Amino acid sequence: MLKVTDLRVTFRRSVKGQFWSAGKSLRAVDGVNLEVAAGETVGLVGESGCGKSTLGRAVLQLVRPSGGRVEFEGVDLCTLSEAQLRPYRRRMQMVFQDPFSSLNPRLTVGQAVAEPMRVHGLAQPHEIPARVAELFAMVGLSPNTANRFPHEFSGGQRQRVGIARALAAQPQLLVCDEPVSSLDVSIQAQIVNLLEDLRARLGLAYLFVSHDLAVVRHLSDRIAVMYLGRIVEVAGKQDLYERPLHPYTQLLLDAIPGTDRAYEKTRAPQILQGEIPSPLNPPGGCTFHPRCPQATARCRQEAPVPQPLAGGRWIACHLHG
Ligand code: SF4
Repeated sequence: MLKVTDLRVTFRRSVKGQFWSAGKSLRAVDGVNLEVAAGETVGLVGESGCGKSTLGRAVLQLVRPSGGRVEFEGVDLCTLSEAQLRPYRRRMQMVFQDPFSSLNPRLTVGQAVAEPMRVHGLAQPHEIPARVAELFAMVGLSPNTANRFPHEFSGGQRQRVGIARALAAQPQLLVCDEPVSSLDVSIQAQIVNLLEDLRARLGLAYLFVSHDLAVVRHLSDRIAVMYLGRIVEVAGKQDLYERPLHPYTQLLLDAIPGTDRAYEKTRAPQILQGEIPSPLNPPGGCTFHPRCPQATARCRQEAPVPQPLAGGRWIACHLHG
């Protein structure tokens, strides 16, 4: 359904009224390849600032890529005008991290959910209230609450409204950008379960962006690990969690506490040292080398090229290829 090829997003921003020179541009997404099949959930993980949210927005053309291709059912969205993009925007919707800021405070939540149906002509005016009620029930909200405003809801309820609004456009793909990271842990599980249930009922595909590998594990079929604008490892869920190959993936997974308390007390997890470098001034060679416990002289000189491995797995690391 979705095929991303050599995607690049470069920002130039003004600093104190001056524009960065061409050489000082910020490469938020740097040559990403990724595919999502119909009905599949691909988790996209990495630390804050690694470019994963920008990649999600670039897939939907909310940020226009600087290069590469985003093909949705064979059509390269990067070549389309805003008017030509409109039908594709309906079929690919976004669920935002903060549903409060994505909902208009002056519209009731019922009006917010009805809006995509009106904009895209998906229902006759007299059909809309029943369709809104159906969507509310689908996401676990009482249809009687449709006349309330966003501020009258809790964070978890607002996220349910955000999901209902995305579903109102009848999409095939949802890009979920950290949809549970601002919620309490107990509410996170409810929203993750809701998304899983909706996927099964509606046959949706998800690109699920999160910094939390535990959340991604629950939902994903495959997982892509991103570091400083690049995908460093892609693998099926089981392969990635049971046999992570890239040193960055290994460190991210090692930081997740297990459920066996006795074992956790004796275990000494490897620590991911330092901060993610600025994409304005990325390290040479493998960009992970300053933090990598397995780095060699070659890693400081030469950027690894992504290599295919058995089982549809990909990795960008000199230790594998
Ligand atoms: Fe570490 Fe070298 Fe692999 Fe980069 S290429 S992840 S520095 S071992």
